[in-house]
Amino acid sequence: MRAPVLLRGVPLSAGAAPALIQVNPTLHGSVDLKATRTRDGANMRAMVFDGAGAALRPASLPDPTPGPGTVLIRVLACGVCRTDLHVVDGDLAAPKPALIPGHEIVGRVVACGAGVERFAPGERVGVPWLGWTCGTCRYCRAGAENLCERARFTGYTLDGGYAEYAVADARYCFAMPPGLGDAASAPLLCAGLIGYRALRFAGDARRLGLYGFGAAAHIVAQVARHQGRTVFAFTRPGDAASQNFARSLGAAWTGDSTLLPPEPLDAALIFAPVGTLVPAALAAVRKGGTVVCAGIHMSAIPSFPYELLWGERRLCSVANLTRADGEEFLELAPRIPIRTTTTEYALDRANDALAALRAGRIDGAAVLVPGAPAAG
Ligand SMILES: [Zn+2]
Ligand SMILES: [Zn+2]
Repeated sequence: MRAPVLLRGVPLSAGAAPALIQVNPTLHGSVDLKATRTRDGANMRAMVFDGAGAALRPASLPDPTPGPGTVLIRVLACGVCRTDLHVVDGDLAAPKPALIPGHEIVGRVVACGAGVERFAPGERVGVPWLGWTCGTCRYCRAGAENLCERARFTGYTLDGGYAEYAVADARYCFAMPPGLGDAASAPLLCAGLIGYRALRFAGDARRLGLYGFGAAAHIVAQVARHQGRTVFAFTRPGDAASQNFARSLGAAWTGDSTLLPPEPLDAALIFAPVGTLVPAALAAVRKGGTVVCAGIHMSAIPSFPYELLWGERRLCSVANLTRADGEEFLELAPRIPIRTTTTEYALDRANDALAALRAGRIDGAAVLVPGAPAAG
């Protein structure tokens, strides 16, 4: 019989004996107390970012402990996002020192800090990029917590999921829907839901262009098709594999990003971090159309003639996510249902996963699976 989910000491006041948290037996069958164990004082494996230019470092770190309002999660899978590449390349300023990257965490709650009522040990949860907001700045008060002046981000200014365990503020975690496995669910948490936020910025566009057909586009294409839109997929010139992949997910037309589509687009979403795509996409949308830049970082946008913007074309960016985006998307995903394409890597192969993503060798998304055997 499979051992029950391990139990974990809960941090109490100093000197108190660690409490055992019982996995909810209605969720996970009977619990054999003799088989339970704690990891008090144990170390976890993690991959650590020490600064731009260096590979992530395998490390053995003390297990994190959940403080008030947070949950301790055993990481089952953590997606590898292009934003992680921007972190390790130093494109994003001031990451947390000795950072554990990773912001597409699917895991199981093993302990809850004081005051956590949303989740119980044993539940499968997701941890996204938005890890904490202040609740008091002008953006938070206006319902735009994605723009919070003091926001903290998982795997950037907070430790993330390239590890066996992670701690997260329970208010920013999501209950993960059933229907997809752990690794398959991970890309929903950033590629999926920030892609979904970008798609909403496209309004009721029927003819939708997707520039860069990676993790986000391969999910957004499925949502767009579900909504009855026609998808035009643009890839790096000559990338036949990505174009075939896009057609397999329902794209009506695929082509090089340097080409114009056979008919003008109503909107275009740019997922590739390439500034030259902005004038290319503006040239591809009709008057009144919208171009949405969906990445956190982009190379410089070259100057372009005003005619490309003229005609009430709109150009905007999408930043981060709100919890409402996540709740809405994770409710929708199993109804479509979204299917993801993933390539799994053991935790200690995180650098290989990042290299494959950088080289464009990943169809869909790369995902780290800490429970997989180490490559050695
Ligand atoms: Zn705020
Ligand atoms: Zn991301």
